[in-house]
Order: sequence, then C-alpha cells, then structure tokens
Amino acid sequence: MNMYKSYQFRLYPTDQQIIQIQKTFGCTRLVYNHYLEKRKKDNLTCFDMIKDLPNLYQECPFLKEVDSCSLRCSLFDLDDAFKRYFNHQNNCPKFKGKYSSKRSYRTNYITSTYKEKKYENIKVDLKRKVITLPKLKEVKIRGYRDLESLPGRIINATISECSSGKYYVSVLVEVGHIVPKIIPKRIVGIDLGIKDVVITSDGEKIKNEKIIEKYEKRIKRKQRELARREKGSSNYYKTKKRIAILFQKLKNARKYFIHQITKKLVLENDIIVSETLKVKEMLEEKKVSKFLSDVSLFKICSILKRKTSYYGKRYIQIDSYYPSSQKCSRCGYKNEKVKDLSVRNWICPECGSYHDRDINASQNILFAGIKKYMKELI
Ligand SMILES: [Zn+2]
Repeated sequence: MNMYKSYQFRLYPTDQQIIQIQKTFGCTRLVYNHYLEKRKKDNLTCFDMIKDLPNLYQECPFLKEVDSCSLRCSLFDLDDAFKRYFNHQNNCPKFKGKYSSKRSYRTNYITSTYKEKKYENIKVDLKRKVITLPKLKEVKIRGYRDLESLPGRIINATISECSSGKYYVSVLVEVGHIVPKIIPKRIVGIDLGIKDVVITSDGEKIKNEKIIEKYEKRIKRKQRELARREKGSSNYYKTKKRIAILFQKLKNARKYFIHQITKKLVLENDIIVSETLKVKEMLEEKKVSKFLSDVSLFKICSILKRKTSYYGKRYIQIDSYYPSSQKCSRCGYKNEKVKDLSVRNWICPECGSYHDRDINASQNILFAGIKKYMKELI
C-alpha cells in the first residue's frame, strides 16, 4: 500500500528568488486562464492543451523564463477542475484573479540520468536546510528539526505565499507503508463540538486550546478596529496586515491542536465512531458564528479517517437520524426537554440515570457505531 505524506516547510527566498516565484505565480495563472477561455469554447483534452502550449510560448515568450513543469501542472489542475465540474462535484472553473486566488504553484518531480550523473529537479537537504527547486536553485527552509531526510520518493512540491507575505513549500512524498493487522479491542464514540472540541464516550472532554481562543478574540478586536479605520489610509493597511498575520497564527495553532487530539484518539483506540457532520445543522443548532464555523471539525474527521487507516484501525461515521443528545444512552428514552441547549445535565425520567449532556450524546454515538460495525461483520 502506497501512502502519501506532505511535509510543509517555511521558505526563505532571497529577493531575486521572490521575483522568480512571483513571476511563476503570474505565468501559471495566465496559462490557466488562457486555456479556461479556450475550453469554454472547444472541448479540449488535457493532452490537447499540453500539445498547444508551445503556441502560447510564441505569443508570450516570457513564459520561457519560468519552470515549464509548473505551467503543465496548472493545466492538470484546470483539467481536474473541469472533470469535477462534469461530475457535479463543483461549480464551473472560474478565471483566477491576481488577488482573489490562492497564490501558489506546483511542480512535479523529474529525474533523469545523463553521463552517469543523476539529475533531479527537486531535492531536499535537511542537514543543510535547503531545497532545490526548478529555476530557483537552492532556497533556505525551516521545519522538521528531528528529521534527517525525507522518508520516501518526492512526488511534487507546491510553493505558496500566504496572505501575511510568508512563503511555504509543501513537499509530497510517497512513503512505503505496511498497514498492521489489528484485532479491535478498544472502541470509542466521540461527539464534536465547539467549546469542548471532542467529548468521548469515556467521559473525557478536550477543550479548545487557550491560545486558539486568544487569537480568535484578538482577530475579532482587530476586525472591529479595521471597521473604524479610514479605508485606504496607512493605518487601515497596517491593521489589515496584522489581521492576516493573526489568521496565519490561528491556522497554525489549530493545525497543531488537531494533530495532537487526533493522534491521541487513534493511538488509544482501535475503532472510533463519530457522527457525519452537516454544516447547516451545526450552524443552526450549535449557534456558531460564521467566524468560528471554520473547517476545523471537518478537518478532524478527515484526519481521523487518514490516521486510522494508516494504523490499520477503523473510523466509522454514523448518520445522525436522531438527535443523539436527547436519547438516554441507557434505556433509549427520548427526552424532548434536552432539546434546549442550556440543559447541560439531566436525569432520565424513565430509568433514573444521570446524564452529562455531551457524554450521553457520545455514548449514543458509540452504540450506533457498534451496531454498524456488527452489521458489517455478519
Ligand atoms: Zn433512561
């Protein structure tokens, strides 16, 4: 089984390298938009577009100055976007604007041997802390201090600039991996929330990290400050930049936090059960503002899926037909009064069990998961 893992490094390009990266952003966008226009008129295949690329080089000779592989990659992306559109998985691809789209480009790993010398277009040297990238040569990197070298074959590299002006490179690596065979012993149900991010059927509540809340508060405050500033003034841009930096910090803190909790859950359990998340319901029921309703919870689910399969464990998602918080996990009685979100704990009028609202919900999730798992075994 081949598994892929991506390694993200902070990039420290020189001024010269920044110019080259920015040029590549522009050129990949130009190629994308040019062929998007063409594909709206003609039905071109990916191969047609690549074959036609030299014609565009004639029209725009500056394209030759950037990594040709990155231009082909943007055609692959365009082709994928159309495929997904035809499969009704997303909307029709849109033109990429200079500021509206994500500033990044991808380039594939290529290797060849010439006169017994091996040539590679992407190389990572973790001892010297440099990455070799096409047209950029060596760029300084930081990250993964404990790693001596990447544990597999490089597939591609994505160079990006985030809104706060920092550069990153994400290197996708193919890692050979044998999935262990496990006889499941421990099973846990988890309820995902906002204040307590994870509530387990064992009664454990994992709270949002303080630092995350701190960043969220600071961003809100700065956003209010921005609203007061005169648009276009130097203070306006200063605040805007500050917000972008805070968002980046928040993103990093969340990412770290999510990895911590998912790692713990997967190492301690063999089967993990959660509900299938529905965005709309979550926004209504859990009264989450748009600001907080970011992809974090979905991210937890997708990472659990990946990590469990990596360790030969199981992740079961159950459909929420019934509100899991209203059902008594011991006798099955449905208590409508628990609909009210302010009810944090209750005693079941049928069997007299005492329930913590969230732990009870995660226990119901656990039982639904066991049911589903048993069905699969038969
Ligand atoms: Zn009961």
